[in-house]
Amino acid sequence: MNVPFVSFEPMHKEIENEILSKFKQMYENNWFILGQEVENFEREFSEFCDTKYCIGCGCGLDALSLILRAYEIGNGDEVIVPSNTYIATALAVTYTGAKPVFVEPNLDTYDINPDLIEKSITDNTKAIIAVHLYGQSADMDKIKKIAKKYNLKLIEDSAQAHGSLYNGRKAGSLGDAAGFSFYPGKNLGALGDAGAVVTDDKELADKVRAIRNYGSDVKYHHIYKGVNSRLDEIQAAFLRIKLRNLEKWNDNRRDTAKKYLNGINNPKVIKPHVASYAEHIWHIFAIRTEGRDEFRKYLKDNGIETVIHYPIPMHLQPAYKDLNFKKGDFPIAEKIANEVLSIPMWYGMNDEEIKYVIDKINRYK
Ligand SMILES: *Cc1c(COP(=O)(O)O)cnc(C)c1O
Repeated sequence: MNVPFVSFEPMHKEIENEILSKFKQMYENNWFILGQEVENFEREFSEFCDTKYCIGCGCGLDALSLILRAYEIGNGDEVIVPSNTYIATALAVTYTGAKPVFVEPNLDTYDINPDLIEKSITDNTKAIIAVHLYGQSADMDKIKKIAKKYNLKLIEDSAQAHGSLYNGRKAGSLGDAAGFSFYPGKNLGALGDAGAVVTDDKELADKVRAIRNYGSDVKYHHIYKGVNSRLDEIQAAFLRIKLRNLEKWNDNRRDTAKKYLNGINNPKVIKPHVASYAEHIWHIFAIRTEGRDEFRKYLKDNGIETVIHYPIPMHLQPAYKDLNFKKGDFPIAEKIANEVLSIPMWYGMNDEEIKYVIDKINRYK
C-alpha cells in the first residue's frame, strides 16, 4: 500500500464544481485585482478569526513583514522569534532590517517556551512573534503578560493555525496582529500563493492595507513607500469556497489525529502532546524518535511518505551565518530537527490508510 504525505484529492473533488463555475464567472467578469471577492473574503475571514479587520496579501511571509513594517520596526530593532519554526518567521524580521532573536521551544509542544523569553529581551526589543507550530497554539496568555510588561507588540504567526483555539479563543485574535498563509498545503490553502493580516487595531489595518498596495490610500496618492502584495480576486474567490468547508475539514483531521494518538503505541516513538489550553488543528502530525532517518527509510520502504518539519533550525541555516551561531547554541531546536518526523495527514484519509500507517509504525523495531 502507498500512503502519500498529503493528497488534495478528497478536498478538491468536493468543491470541484463550485470552483470551476466560479472560475468561469470571474473569467467573464474581467475584474482581477482588489474587488468584491477580496472584500468579501476579508470580511468572512475576519469573522472566522474573531477579529475586526482582515487585509488580504500576497503570501504569509508578506503578511508578517507588512505587520512589522506598519509597526515601524526596522534597523536597530530586535524581534523575538522561536528557534524552531519555518524560516519565513525569521525572514519577515530580517526583511525589515531588524534582527531576529531566537528563543528555544518547549520540547513537548514544540512552541516557543514563554519562560525563556524575558532573558532575551533588550532595550532594542520591539516585538515577539509567537508561532502556532503544526497547528497548536503557543501559550499565549503567558507570552502576552511579558509583551505587556515590556511594552512589546505581540504578533502571531498563524500560518499553520487556521481555526486553532487557545482556551476557546481563535488563533489570530490572541495578540496585536496575526499573519496567515494560504499556501496550498495549509489547512486553508489557495490554488497558489496568498496570505492575510488580521487585527483589531484600526490604525494598523489601514496602514497595512495601504502598504500592500503601493502605499496608496486613494488611487494615485501614495502616503507610504509601499509594496505590491495584493491578494488576487480569483484566489480570494477560491478561498471563500474553501473557508465554508474549513471547520469540517479540520474536524476530519482531528478524527485522524485521534486515531493516530490512540493507535500508535511503539515505545520508540514520542507522540505529539496536546496542551490543556489548545484545540489543535493538526496542520502537521509530528512524531519524534531517535534514529529518525532509519525510521523514515523503513516507512518509505513500506510505501509511507513522510516529511521533516524542519531539518535545519534557523541558527544553523547558511542564510543566517552572519549571526555567527554554531551547533549546540540552541540544543532543543537541534534535538527536534534531528528527531522529528511528520506522518501523512490530510482531509479525507480513509481508515485503511490510517490503520496501515499505525500498524507499520507499531511494527518498527
Ligand atoms: C507557510 C509558513 C509561512 C509562510 O507562508 P508563505 O505563504 O509560504 O509565505 C510562515 N510561517 C510559517 C510557520 C509557515 O508554516
